Amino acid sequence: LLRVRGLQKSFGANQVLQSIDLTVSRGHVLALIGPSGSGKTTILRCLNGLELADGGTIELADELSVDFTTAPGKKQLAALRDRSAMVFQHYNLFPHKTVLENVLEGPVMVQRRPKDEVTAEALALLDRVGLSSKRDSYPFELSGGQQQRVGIVRALALRPKLLLFDEPTSSLDPELVGDVLRLIKELALEGWSMVIVTHELEFAREVATTVAFVDGGRIVEHGDPKQVLRHPKEERTRQFLHRLL
Ligand code: ATP
Repeated sequence: LLRVRGLQKSFGANQVLQSIDLTVSRGHVLALIGPSGSGKTTILRCLNGLELADGGTIELADELSVDFTTAPGKKQLAALRDRSAMVFQHYNLFPHKTVLENVLEGPVMVQRRPKDEVTAEALALLDRVGLSSKRDSYPFELSGGQQQRVGIVRALALRPKLLLFDEPTSSLDPELVGDVLRLIKELALEGWSMVIVTHELEFAREVATTVAFVDGGRIVEHGDPKQVLRHPKEERTRQFLHRLL
């Protein structure tokens, strides 16, 4: 479903992604772990076209292949953006729009799908996450956990091929983390393909098909979650895990 080769990204003189290679098969979940500043968020933002990579290629679903060694065209970038949807650490809901309007915005305004069809789908998704009674509320009236569930519904309503989660629970109070992780786990079991940046190692072990350890803009090692998290091959991975335990 997703194949990334040699992805590079610099901000000025700071080369944040050295050369990232990764693949995600359909229905699989890739968890990215690693220290702060190692480039995990930048990988997601490049996959979603929120940042423009400076080199490498991204192949994503239905024979889309975007080469960043030469600046990609608008159509290719739009196609890349359309194939994935991001769930942000700080939810990033539109503060002046209601829950339902937040969910409808992308599918109706960007994807130009019929409003009544999208509304029916959005209401079913909100119902699924227990938030149909909040459809007309504004984000500030919701708890962090509720806002993040709206963030997830908003991503699902885009019908993406790939879901991208950027530390989806790290802004939440501890008692709200479980609900959101359970929802993500359900989506994984339903066969959604995902890339998740997370510091929740236990969650990564349970949900991921593959865990990749990112450090200094490189994937230092990747593999079966149990192997990478319990018996890492690389010293740098061992040190990182050791600090977290
Ligand atoms: P964290 O776990 O803290 O979120 P991360 O692994 O996700 O960290 P990134 O957010 O990808 O790391 O950041 C990697 C590096 O890129 C950092 O040094 C950061 O300062 C830099 N960086 C990220 N975005 C920008 C930007 N828009 N402009 C300049 N530098 C940036």
